[in-house]
This record gives sequence, C-alpha cells and structure tokens, in this order.
Amino acid sequence: MTTIVFSDRDGTINKDENYFLGSKPNWRDQVSFLEGVIEGIRMINTIPDSYFFIVTNQAGIALQGPEFDLLTEKRLEEVNDYILEELKKRSAKVDGLYSCPYIDLDYVKRSVERGRSTNPDYVKDNHPDLKPNIGMIEKALQSLNLDRNDCDIYMIGDRITDVKMGLNAGGTGILVESSKTRERGDVEKVQSLQGKTYIARNFLDAAEFILKNTNS
Ligand SMILES: [Mg+2]
Repeated sequence: MTTIVFSDRDGTINKDENYFLGSKPNWRDQVSFLEGVIEGIRMINTIPDSYFFIVTNQAGIALQGPEFDLLTEKRLEEVNDYILEELKKRSAKVDGLYSCPYIDLDYVKRSVERGRSTNPDYVKDNHPDLKPNIGMIEKALQSLNLDRNDCDIYMIGDRITDVKMGLNAGGTGILVESSKTRERGDVEKVQSLQGKTYIARNFLDAAEFILKNTNS
C-alpha cells in the first residue's frame, strides 16, 4: 500500500505569527521552519513507497486593503517555491504543493468583523479545495494516478480543519500541538472526533507516529 502524507504549511511547516506570508516586502525573512520539521520530513521520505505533499489554504489572497496589496496569486507562488527550495536545500523532499486561495462565507463574516474587506472573486462557499474538503488531496492522488482506497493517507496540521481533512479523505488526522492549538481548544475538539486521530507534540513526533504505523 502506498503511504501518502499531507501537511499543512503555515503553523505546521513554517512559523506562523499571523504573517499572511508574502504580504510584506521582507517576507523571505519571515520564513522559518518549526522544530522537528526538517528531520520529520526526512523521516517520512524514508518510508518505502511513500509521497509527501503540502496542502495549504491561503485566505490572504482573498483579502483586500493596502496590507494585502502585495499578496497576489503570483506572490503566493513565489512564497511556495521559496519554501520548497529551502526544504530541498536541507534534503527534505516534497513531492508537490497545492494551495487554495478561496474563502467561505463564514470567513468573510469574520473578516468584516475585523474591519477587513474581501475580494468577491475569491469567495467560494464550500469550494472543494477548501479544508476540510479534500479537493487538494484528490488532486495529488490524481497526479500520481492513485486511488484513495489503495493508499494509506495521513494529514498533519495545526488546526482542527487539517485533522478533519485527513479523516474526510479516509485517512488519519494528526494535530501538531502549538500554543495556538491549545488557545483555540483544538486539542479537546480533536479528542472528541470520531476516527483515526493523533495529537503530536511537534512535526517530528507526527513523523515518528506515521513511521511506526507503516512498520506495524
Ligand atoms: Mg496552519
């Protein structure tokens, strides 16, 4: 069976301080990898017949105002390419990356409450690529010509939507604990989910969990 590991980007692979990475001219300086990430990806890379993908929701693309002028789809691509390059330099192999620039109506509402305006072109309620929907996972599987039923799927992320995405794909959802996940109560929420879940201390712990599972 092929093992396919998916990971969220911001807050899971790289540090996220509400950066909206790519929105500032010095965005490259804001890219820093979280503890255990490089080692964890390398560990995942050692699993026989396995692939590793990054899947990311990028709501910043849909936000409007001077703060977000620089954060275009082109910039998003540059940021993604830069992250992939930096990982590659560190011998952490990524087989692909998919991002979703759309937001749903709930996100619009929350943005308006924060005084932010949104670009109607990017408002797509329940878009298949919006987590916890599994559009991006399906795209990755299609690129490999693989069927979901023939794969062992894992999804690692710092939000409950990441965990739910893994479960929705028939796989295992892994929450990487951070101060933010605790603040939001995501740990408790994940514990109450039905299905295969794991709460990891960090990315490396998540990778070790996956490695152990594939060996058993
Ligand atoms: Mg995240």
